[in-house]
Amino acid sequence: MASYWALLKNPSFKFWPQLCPLCGAAGCARFLGFYIRVRLYCQGKIYHNIAIARFICLRLNPEMPPGTHRTFSLLHDFLIPYFPYALDLTMVIAENLVKHAANVYQTTNLLQEIADDHLNLYAATITRIKHRLDNVIAKLNQLPSRLAEAMGWSKHTKGLPELLAFLKNYHSRLHAALSGARALAHDWFYLAQQGLRYMQRSFLFGTASQQRV
Ligand SMILES: [Zn+2]
Repeated sequence: MASYWALLKNPSFKFWPQLCPLCGAAGCARFLGFYIRVRLYCQGKIYHNIAIARFICLRLNPEMPPGTHRTFSLLHDFLIPYFPYALDLTMVIAENLVKHAANVYQTTNLLQEIADDHLNLYAATITRIKHRLDNVIAKLNQLPSRLAEAMGWSKHTKGLPELLAFLKNYHSRLHAALSGARALAHDWFYLAQQGLRYMQRSFLFGTASQQRV
């Protein structure tokens, strides 16, 4: 979190140097402002009222159809869109799901040990996390073969235990210091975002874009 706050203190973050992640056009994304995350669980701590930078796609790619997502957020690679639990806690939950053969209720019981009054790890939350992890498998399986090979992902992989092993052993292809699930989130942004058509680009651990009228 400290590195995210340090980034936001430097106004240069308002300039988006990469291609727009929503439409793929250069020089398209513009800084829009901040939204507030009321509560965030990260690295064993609870953070309140966190400002998250938000950008708007100016639709500079004429092929972009109307009615799709228009804004996106600048999230650190350990944060998950629309989700108060950071990637580290998601991995703990994934490990417990694997230990209990993806049984949500047994996992819920075990996780009550780390839950407190603020941390909702009840069945509905665990089910949402399981659904997100299933989506991660589906997204990886939809990768073009050359990208799947570059990331070391076998498209025959269908289950949570294989996904978990893949995430734990992953080393970033682009950033030598990064490993694990956040390394894959990082590589997904920089590798898959460029290699997929814009409609398939939603971020690995959820969609980073937000609907806006
Ligand atoms: Zn755009």
